[in-house]
Amino acid sequence: MAQLDGRIAVVTGASRGIGRAIALELARRGATIVVNYNAASGAADEVVEAIKALGGQAMARQADVSNLEQATALIDAAVEAYGKVDILVNNAGTTRDTLIMRMKEEDWDTVINTNLKSAWNCSKAVVRPMMKARYGRIINITSVSGIAGNEGQTNYSASKAGLIGLTKALAREVGSRGITVNAVAPGFVKTDLTADLPESLLQALNDRLVIKRLGTIEDVAYAVAFLASDETSYITGQVLSVDGGLVMG
Ligand code: NAP
Repeated sequence: MAQLDGRIAVVTGASRGIGRAIALELARRGATIVVNYNAASGAADEVVEAIKALGGQAMARQADVSNLEQATALIDAAVEAYGKVDILVNNAGTTRDTLIMRMKEEDWDTVINTNLKSAWNCSKAVVRPMMKARYGRIINITSVSGIAGNEGQTNYSASKAGLIGLTKALAREVGSRGITVNAVAPGFVKTDLTADLPESLLQALNDRLVIKRLGTIEDVAYAVAFLASDETSYITGQVLSVDGGLVMG
């Protein structure tokens, strides 16, 4: 199971939810983890402790990854501490849901910058050291909303669709250097992000699922760990849905 021994991974937004589960799963498989967070320093420290309790190595690093300077400093800190970055998981994300007529410009800007620009920022910073090493795994956490669209989420769906375009374009740019770029598209997973979804929506959702349950953070983490492994060197520019069959084709 420890197929990521010796690998260094940066996971953005790893203090909570899906990012936390990804950090723990990659660590369980032997990777050393840089646990990025924006505000929740206590939670990030707790993730580092949990990784150490598994016998792994990790450090927490604050950075608002929507800011290019801070995202670059995050990658630089990882390279300085561990000598390289093999795996980058662009997971940090947020929502500001409402219908377009009520959506404020700042709701658009915040979501696009946090979900999409952040991935461009971190990828831009990590590509040089990965190219030098002739090895890399970049995994972007998109969403079914970026594939199928979701009402009340013009900002979020656009950011997640943008991530898919970024994934495919970057995959073409760096493939010859041993770097793969893929996306994972979760459906609905129980985290802080989805805590406020109304019961009626969850019931309607359940009716459309092939696998009749919400996703778990581990469901997503296993898919990321697969794409982060050495064995996936022939998979790039792909979107792997982890959504219980919600969206097909
Ligand atoms: P969450 O529980 O709300 O956690 C969000 C994480 O992102 C936190 O660690 C947060 O850090 C971090 N973050 C937010 N803004 C940041 C910034 N500017 N810089 C650095 N870190 C930042 O969310 P989640 O549900 O785990 O979602 C994780 C990813 O999966 C997101 O990209 C989301 O869009 C995607 N996704 C989620 C679902 C779902 O159903 N939950 C479905 C599809 C896709 P702090 O704790 O420091 O604030």
